[in-house]
Amino acid sequence: MQNITLFQFFHWYYPNDGSLWKHCMEEADALQQLGITYVWLPPPYKSALGMAEPGYAVYDHFDLGEFDQKGTVPTKYGTKDEYLQCIKELHNRGIKVLADVVLNHRMGADDTELVKVKQVEAENRNHIMEQEEVIEVYTKFTFPGRGQKYSNFIWDYQCFTGVSVTDNEGTRIYTILNEYGTDWEDVLDTEFGNPDYLMGCDAEFRNEHVREELKWWGRWFLETTGVDGFRLDAVKHISHRFMKEWMAHLKAVSNKDLFFLAEYVTNDAELLLNWNKAVDEQCQLFDVLLHHNFYEASHQRSEYDLRQIFDKSLLKMHPERAITFVDSHDTQPFQLMESFVDWWFKPLAYAIILLQEHGIPCVFYPSIYGAVYEEVQDGVNQRVELVPVPAIREMMRVRRHLAFGAQRDYFNDARHVGWVRTGVPEQEYSGCAVVLSNGGAAHLEMEMGNAHANAEFADVTGNRAETVTTDEHGKARFTANGASVSVWIRKEALPLIQL
Ligand code: CA
Repeated sequence: MQNITLFQFFHWYYPNDGSLWKHCMEEADALQQLGITYVWLPPPYKSALGMAEPGYAVYDHFDLGEFDQKGTVPTKYGTKDEYLQCIKELHNRGIKVLADVVLNHRMGADDTELVKVKQVEAENRNHIMEQEEVIEVYTKFTFPGRGQKYSNFIWDYQCFTGVSVTDNEGTRIYTILNEYGTDWEDVLDTEFGNPDYLMGCDAEFRNEHVREELKWWGRWFLETTGVDGFRLDAVKHISHRFMKEWMAHLKAVSNKDLFFLAEYVTNDAELLLNWNKAVDEQCQLFDVLLHHNFYEASHQRSEYDLRQIFDKSLLKMHPERAITFVDSHDTQPFQLMESFVDWWFKPLAYAIILLQEHGIPCVFYPSIYGAVYEEVQDGVNQRVELVPVPAIREMMRVRRHLAFGAQRDYFNDARHVGWVRTGVPEQEYSGCAVVLSNGGAAHLEMEMGNAHANAEFADVTGNRAETVTTDEHGKARFTANGASVSVWIRKEALPLIQL
């Protein structure tokens, strides 16, 4: 009996010192103790900026910190050997690994080409200027530092649908006129008219050679690293036909039950579900809508009606597909999609994703380890300090050992809500009762069931010091402080949680 739990083992501002793979292997035991079943590691291949960015500006997928390219052998996170060792250490503890893969674009080309293009309107990419231009742009990737090891594929303008150029006059986006098309690829979204283009040199999936090269890379990567699946970056901007083909191919050649997790940023669950249908439902999806609700609830404070916390979320509409999260590297302070859930609400949000029956939660690195970083904004150096979320380790251990069995929701009041998990016979003293408040102190009468008759419960968060005793039916008044959460478990189970 196991609850699946993901852990995002990085954040945007992790130091650029090549230490993350080593750090992660040192933490493998701790992650196992917390009940982590999958670790999501950041992009492991060479970035156009060497060690200076988190890996989303992909230069060479085949350079996992092995070749002297972009001024460094290691990536931001370490060397290839360290990456492979890290995966091994996690596997030794029964933890699976997801690799972060950016297929939409690449950056830092080695050479320029003269390319026929048409400029497009930034806000409406379907508005393509009539005038054809020839511009000199960096679109040729020859990977001189790698030579032809693992692949001799050269990327050129036939492999890209578009580029952008930034100069004194600003940024202009161009669609490339190549033999596969003279406009954007079909994608299932209408953001900016057509969101095929995101950044850098945008991959042309209508080109069969590109598709075959990325399939070869996927096979090579699986065989080289032994990872158990992929977190797919920016799928909104990638041909869904190609995504379907790529996932099906890797599933067919792998002897594992590969896990795919797609990042599709939208505030419309229908778009998520449409996309998932178009790729044959081969994916789990980040529940960006639930995150949005957490963000709203945290900022509206007691004005927010907690009974709406699941509204329009993937968790509500398609729970078996939902990967729930509180924050990520894209939402943390100073990131483009900054929508960081306010401090006081984080323990409440984590209680929801860790202890409700449905959804697979993904815990964000700073929630456990904290993070301190600086960023220059408007010419001023800003310092951010993220401290670990109170009681998160305890809640994760409750998920690992006790959060089993049927769920009963008590979502009757706008400010005070709760639920119980009744536990299962196979796991002694399992079950828990959770109470959330975004207003004043809460007292919720909830029923744990006959298996918990006349039993004593304690709050693992430490927010409430008293003991709650159930009646002969397993019913009791469980409490929480104002703007707080309490997680009640059987007193007998405390040694499992408080290590
Ligand atoms: Ca694209």
